[in-house]
Amino acid sequence: MLTAEREILVEDVLDSIFRGFVGIIPYDRIGCAFLSSGGTRMMSYWARSNMGPMAINKGYSRPLLGSSLREVFRTGEPRILNDLERYLAEHPTSKATQRIVAEGGRSSLTCPLFVDGRPLGVLFFTSHQTNVYRDIHQAVFQQIAGQVAILINKSKLFQELVERNQFLLRQAEQLREVANRDALTGVLNRRAFLLALEQHLQASAATGKTLGLVMADIDHFKNVNDTYGHAAGDKALRGFTDRIGALLRPGDYLGRYGGEEFLLLISDISAADLPAIVERFRAAIADEPFDLGEVRRSLTVSFGVAVVSEGGMRAEEVIATADRALYEAKEAGRNRSVIAIATG
Ligand code: GH3
Ligand code: MG
Ligand code: MG
Repeated sequence: MLTAEREILVEDVLDSIFRGFVGIIPYDRIGCAFLSSGGTRMMSYWARSNMGPMAINKGYSRPLLGSSLREVFRTGEPRILNDLERYLAEHPTSKATQRIVAEGGRSSLTCPLFVDGRPLGVLFFTSHQTNVYRDIHQAVFQQIAGQVAILINKSKLFQELVERNQFLLRQAEQLREVANRDALTGVLNRRAFLLALEQHLQASAATGKTLGLVMADIDHFKNVNDTYGHAAGDKALRGFTDRIGALLRPGDYLGRYGGEEFLLLISDISAADLPAIVERFRAAIADEPFDLGEVRRSLTVSFGVAVVSEGGMRAEEVIATADRALYEAKEAGRNRSVIAIATG
């Protein structure tokens, strides 16, 4: 894996240029722009200024066509403009000059960068005073232009590699996220939830901490689908996960076990606190009707809870305990919870 720290990035190179040219070429600001869009535009990549706020920042882009920079690339020589205000009066449409003058720039040395004879971009030196640049500065830059261009190009390529790598890492992360989520509700899917459960069972076996596994099943859910349609049913499922999700603490998990059955993992809890927690879940569903699109409809949920205090329990045993408790809650009239101790 690439690490940004170990290699030189464009920013570092340009920072050292900003420090390194002191005493060689006068400036109050240095900017760097690269040719982009197949060589048709100049894109500002970096700038540092001692003149105050900048009007040309990273990402500022201008077409090369009609720009005087074309001439700089054609001759391959640094260009001196020793009175930017006068230049702007003569070229009032030059947007970049407008901005530099607005920043306080009064003279500039524009240095083209070439790598293997191909134009790469430009380094702009700007001073807040007029009449600063001399032939000697042009000549000094010409002497080191090749090395500066190679250095900037190398770091630019590396930077692009780092950014590409970061992009791929973000994509991989997003894919992992999608693979772990239930498409309808966005909560963990069965596989991801079971993985979390197994990890927590192992951890609690080591620490001796109690955890609760809650199986929740919406009451008479078939009725909702049959009466209001599948879309309303889907809306109810999302409403359910929204309300329960809002009650979870960090370290708790909510997953869809299948259909209208959900699992909750309540970690690091005392068995005595579990009933009140599950009652909060029950009330959050039952107390307020759900907006199902065409109608508002009350829903209730039954809960089976397995308390795991004993180490070495397997996920299937714990789920089976919660499932049996849920069955009892349904039998006893629904809209309630039954709590059972999971034993191996
Ligand atoms: P009980 O109170 O005993 O749990 O009754 P119930 O009607 O909720 O239980 P049952 O298992 O008979 O029905 C579950 C229904 O859930 C049937 C199925 O069509 C519906 N269902 C499962 N998955 C989805 C889904 O993703 N969207 C919708 N809209 N309905 C679903
Ligand atoms: Mg069911
Ligand atoms: Mg049901």
